[in-house]
Amino acid sequence: MSIKEIVEGIKNKKIKAKEVVEECLKEIRERDKGVNSFITVFEEDAIKEGELIDRNLEDLKDKKLLGVPISIKDNILVKGKRTTAGSKILENYIATYDATVVKRLKEEGAIIIGKTNMDEFAFGSSTETSYFGPTRNPVDIERVPGGSSGGSAASVSAGFVPCSLGSDTGGSIRQPASFCGVFGLKPTYGRVSRYGLIAFASSLDQIGPFAKNTFDLALIMEVIAGYDEYDSTSLNEEVPEYSKDIENFDIKGVKIGLPDEYFELGVDSEIKDRILGICKKLEEEGSIIERIKLPHTKYAVSVYYIVAPSEASSNLARYDGVKYGYSNRNGKDLIEDYFLTRRDGFGEEAKRRIIIGTFALSSGYYDAYYLKAQKVRTLIKRDFEEAFKKVDFIITPTSPQVPFKIGEILDPISMYMQDVFTIPASLAGIPGLNFPAGRNKDGLPIGLQILGKKLSEREIFCFSFFLEKILEKEVMDHG
Ligand code: GLN
Repeated sequence: MSIKEIVEGIKNKKIKAKEVVEECLKEIRERDKGVNSFITVFEEDAIKEGELIDRNLEDLKDKKLLGVPISIKDNILVKGKRTTAGSKILENYIATYDATVVKRLKEEGAIIIGKTNMDEFAFGSSTETSYFGPTRNPVDIERVPGGSSGGSAASVSAGFVPCSLGSDTGGSIRQPASFCGVFGLKPTYGRVSRYGLIAFASSLDQIGPFAKNTFDLALIMEVIAGYDEYDSTSLNEEVPEYSKDIENFDIKGVKIGLPDEYFELGVDSEIKDRILGICKKLEEEGSIIERIKLPHTKYAVSVYYIVAPSEASSNLARYDGVKYGYSNRNGKDLIEDYFLTRRDGFGEEAKRRIIIGTFALSSGYYDAYYLKAQKVRTLIKRDFEEAFKKVDFIITPTSPQVPFKIGEILDPISMYMQDVFTIPASLAGIPGLNFPAGRNKDGLPIGLQILGKKLSEREIFCFSFFLEKILEKEVMDHG
């Protein structure tokens, strides 16, 4: 069921909130063993929440997400619950407060079903680096679900929950959404509060939703977006009612840019053909398709892999075995205890990022790497600013390829290249949505990315909703 159907069903007493929760739990119990999308499931609490809603229905009727089950990526804090970030170092860490997004979801009647699997500290594109084992793609169990929010995407794709929250630093919502054939949005940087999100790269991290249709995605954004005094980078801008009048959209004359750099060598030809085919349809509907250039795209991955590990190395300094989580106190002094704790507590990829970041920030190298990367980041941002003077939206493939097999990509650089098409928007801080654009000949999902200017979430939703309508009969077979 969609979010809308659940909320209306409960309100009109056609279904009970408790039944909805029980149904989700049953599906998870029966089918998640093969998928491994959850690290923790809150069976008892979720049923209690459902009962509470059924008992107090009269007082709760206006809640936007009344009785809607939702899964939450395990780097977002839920008070009193274990929050691991997919790492051994936080294996038994219990959150002492709710993230702002979680608080807002609860206030609107959503029921948190559990915490989803992820790459350790959100470092990765396949959910294979989790301390809790890899998540598998529900569309094809031999393949990865993408990452790092692979558990969230898989939990929606498998039909365990209608929606989920993930986080996106360089593509971690959009790419898994693409791989699992669901909708996912990375909002404008600062649109959604990061308070209570375990930090990876603070200048890039954004929380965002996964769902099975645009309307549901918009509804969740309505609840979680908005100013928060606990996040100093939070934007103090009004939140539009994203789901309201979502169908009021006129495609006539809308300008869509197709950046040459995203359709060059290295892109799977079926993906390319599919995206261009959809653009042709949009043209027939009255939009104007233009070829554009984003000339600094080629530097984006390099810039990101300086900026993101640098910030990560600083953010991960707090895991020292004293303040949080896992601790190895067998050293001869405190310094050695730190070393042992971090040696045992972090996985290989986390250590690699810490080493790269520490190197890039070290004195004598700062100007050559970090500062230079920041300058090129500005150029990438300007590319988009220039482009959006000419076009309303930019369309690209979300990922250059369809989901790969578990264990297929072993070398870190090839894994880093997975994010070539999602990283530029992250560096620029602009919103991006993955639109599930059908399947290839082997039945694997293809994702189309819609990019818009800063704070254009409302326009992106209207456009995506329109696209969903015109493609309905043909491609709406995700999940
Ligand atoms: N795959 C990218 C990385 O490994 C992006 C991850 C993310 O967005 N959290 O850093």
